Amino acid sequence: MQPAPDKIDNYFAATAAASPRRPALHGDIETDVCIIGGGFSGVASALSLAERGFDVVLLEGRRIGWGASGRSGGQILPGWSGESAIRNQLGERASAFLERTRYFGNEIIETRIKKYAIDCDYERGAATLALNEKQMAALEAEYASHAKTGADFHFDLVDRATISNHVASEIYCGGLIDRRGAHCHPLNLCLGEARAAESLGVRIFEESLAVDIAHSDRPGVITKDGRVNCRIAILAGNAYHKLEQGKLGGYMLPAQTFQIATEVIGENRARAILPDNLAVCDANWALDYFRRSADHRILFGGLCTYSNRTVANIENELTPRLLRIFPQLGDVKTEFAWGGAIGIVLNRAPLIGRIADNVFYAQGYSGHGVNCSHIAGEIFADAAQARLDDINLFETIRHLRIPAASAIGNPMLALGMTWFRMRDAIDI
Ligand SMILES: Cc1cc2nc3c(=O)[nH]c(=O)nc-3n(C[C@H](O)[C@H](O)[C@H](O)COP(=O)(O)OP(=O)(O)OC[C@H]3O[C@@H](n4cnc5c(N)ncnc54)[C@H](O)[C@@H]3O)c2cc1C
Repeated sequence: MQPAPDKIDNYFAATAAASPRRPALHGDIETDVCIIGGGFSGVASALSLAERGFDVVLLEGRRIGWGASGRSGGQILPGWSGESAIRNQLGERASAFLERTRYFGNEIIETRIKKYAIDCDYERGAATLALNEKQMAALEAEYASHAKTGADFHFDLVDRATISNHVASEIYCGGLIDRRGAHCHPLNLCLGEARAAESLGVRIFEESLAVDIAHSDRPGVITKDGRVNCRIAILAGNAYHKLEQGKLGGYMLPAQTFQIATEVIGENRARAILPDNLAVCDANWALDYFRRSADHRILFGGLCTYSNRTVANIENELTPRLLRIFPQLGDVKTEFAWGGAIGIVLNRAPLIGRIADNVFYAQGYSGHGVNCSHIAGEIFADAAQARLDDINLFETIRHLRIPAASAIGNPMLALGMTWFRMRDAIDI
């Protein structure tokens, strides 16, 4: 069982597979690629690079999966956040990339689960639900555009009359089911990928916070007690790292987001709530999301504090939202409540690129990182082999940089998000 070092009462940590404690780094070592951060971005990159024959060292400041990855909702949804910004800025070139990679993260995860026998409760099936007619019209348009492409059609459009066959709630007008979306136990996926990476020779050090990167032809990643000299360094600390702020500061802001897990309610009751075991989110900008767990609980998330403040009582905030959707769960206790930090980018397009020719970074998935972090790993492995098209594409996306972000960034973000929440509430 993986302890939560910051005392977060995290359902996934409490139900994680046994995972060895890795040593901290002591002394100087050499490698091809040094990765900073042991969430999906770091671990998936390590595995992608090791699969292509690179020697890799991964440094994690706490434990593998400790950050957002191991505490996430585990919803493996297709596509990228910020797609419209990417498309608007880059046109055709971006459209081709977005189509090509729509399910790439899901494919990587499915392949790895099979190839490395990762036991992480993986289930296919996801849905986006409409809370009003305008959202329903948008889902109908999305369905129609998928229908035009024809190939591998795996969507169901569900109207108000039949949505309760999939989600036992009265509040939705309908929804779009995507049978290739999925969900899993995210910490077990991350731990399983770390184990797979180690089987290919990746050296992982935990409790090994990188405090600096010494830039040179052969960068050195420095920890309290050691240094990793490498050909390429990859920064994958997302909302938890404070490195390279001269180049990266102001483009991404940390925000806190929260989740609860009910007590075990039994298979019959869980099935009655979500008969086909979908990973569900609504179509609001500030969305609620939920699903069943393998041990028959309901996992529910939905609150994001863009001010980056944690909330005093997560359960008190989230349980009423869960009960508004499923009043039939009124007698059910909440057993776990936790939060974690995500990286938000103003136009929501992830930040993937290079600080120098030999220092790469990926961060700011804006709450939609399980699939994208896996694609980032492949983009890095391509870049390490001098195939630069995809990393170049991300570097071409223009982002707003907030000056003095550490002082005013989060208040600005919170103000902006109030507007989007108002739009959700008054349906404009
Ligand atoms: C409550 C919650 C629910 C979410 N639900 C979903 C969901 O259902 N679907 C989805 O797609 N996304 C979801 N997300 C977002 C998703 O989890 C993230 O986008 C994704 O996991 C980011 O992965 P990452 O590896 O980049 O960052 P993280 O998982 O945060 O990992 C970063 C790691 O780097 C380490 N680190 C930081 N700095 C250093 C350093 N200097 N040296 C060494 N190590 C360092 C940290 O300790 C941490 O372990 C959710 C996030 C949260 C918090």
